[in-house]
Amino acid sequence: MKTFEMLESDVRVYCRHFPAVFEKAAGSTLFDENGKTYTDFFSGAGSLNYGHNNPRMKERLIEAIQNDFVTHSLDMATTAKRRFLERFNSIILEPRNFKYKIQFCGPTGANAVEAALKLARKATGRQTVVFFTHSYHGLSLGSLAVTASRSKRKSAAVPLHFTMPMAFDGDLGPDVDTLDYLEMFLTKTSSGMEIPAAIIVETIQAEGGVRSARYSWLQRLESLCKKHGIVFIADDIQVGCGRTGTFFSFEEAGLNPDIVCLSKSISGYGLPMAILLLKPELDVWEPGEHSGTFRGNNLAFVTASEALSYWETDEFSKSIGQKAHRAAELLNEIIQAFPETQASLRGRGLIQGLVFEKDGLGDQVSREAFDRGLIIETSGPNGEVLKILPPLTITEAELESGIRTISESIESVLSQSEKYAKASPA
Ligand code: PMP
Repeated sequence: MKTFEMLESDVRVYCRHFPAVFEKAAGSTLFDENGKTYTDFFSGAGSLNYGHNNPRMKERLIEAIQNDFVTHSLDMATTAKRRFLERFNSIILEPRNFKYKIQFCGPTGANAVEAALKLARKATGRQTVVFFTHSYHGLSLGSLAVTASRSKRKSAAVPLHFTMPMAFDGDLGPDVDTLDYLEMFLTKTSSGMEIPAAIIVETIQAEGGVRSARYSWLQRLESLCKKHGIVFIADDIQVGCGRTGTFFSFEEAGLNPDIVCLSKSISGYGLPMAILLLKPELDVWEPGEHSGTFRGNNLAFVTASEALSYWETDEFSKSIGQKAHRAAELLNEIIQAFPETQASLRGRGLIQGLVFEKDGLGDQVSREAFDRGLIIETSGPNGEVLKILPPLTITEAELESGIRTISESIESVLSQSEKYAKASPA
């Protein structure tokens, strides 16, 4: 790690949590330069839903490169882009009766969020965007202004204007519908709140600690937006592309957001790519008004088009449901086995969070799991949630073995810590 410490900026983070030098990867497994193998329960923070170096996508990519296809084209039309647009429309949008136009923005999630905020403000002529407690939408200035973490916001070092936080579902306890509060602000002409341009929401706050909003809450949020002419933006960057079992995380809730942000697993291969889906009436951009050098990555178009094959039938979706069911079963067994951790489970599909009440336990378990060959991250304001985020293509055997490693890691951390051992009920 000496090279990285000497030459790379202190801003680096994941290499501190997972201190190995990785060399190869296939499916759900990473190999470091010493040949040690790791099961990946992190999936590039949701960018590798189809696993590392997915063979079907790799084949297409090699074929395209060998045929001298166009790698860079600004936003000029290419055959690779046309194939992606046509397949996305026929495989994803049409069967769901969604009529969206597609905007290629810069390739990161934050780029998609920036574009969504700018478009909503332009389309409505209003300025404020409402976001929710525990949200994460990126770290560029605009996206940071709708990200909740106080320490992340502080790093901006300038005021983060024109946004307003509201309580996410459940954040005022189980008996309060936080939307009552939002509705009061929107309805009362003397509430002090301007009608916002947009409301941005994650159906499941992955970075915020795997917090899911109830479908009824999301539906009410959507109808409040409709009623007040507010642009309803769904950030499906981490939990879209199949993570919850359906392509979009909001399908079961029956939502039809005005703008959808997608990135991470949209390319299917870990290649940088992000898109906005926008209702045609919101497409008020002038040509070039939100332009840039990298507006569409043709390498990513090739793999993204291939990734869509997983959605041509409902087989893949069913398999995610089965694996999610098995994962939840095994994680609940862990909760039973270690009552002293006061752990609980939350999540949907193949994003599950093991929530530890004991300070620091999540991070300790993540470190121990790494030593045992499992890559697993924590999330939540204090790193208290162990986030289970395996590739959706993981085999059931790999899934079970990874969860077994979690269990062994908890056992090891507890036995090392007298404090927890004492707190253990007889
Ligand atoms: N939105 C959500 C929901 C995310 O999870 C993330 C990344 N964790 C982002 C936006 C920002 O994406 P990026 O890191 O690619 O800028």
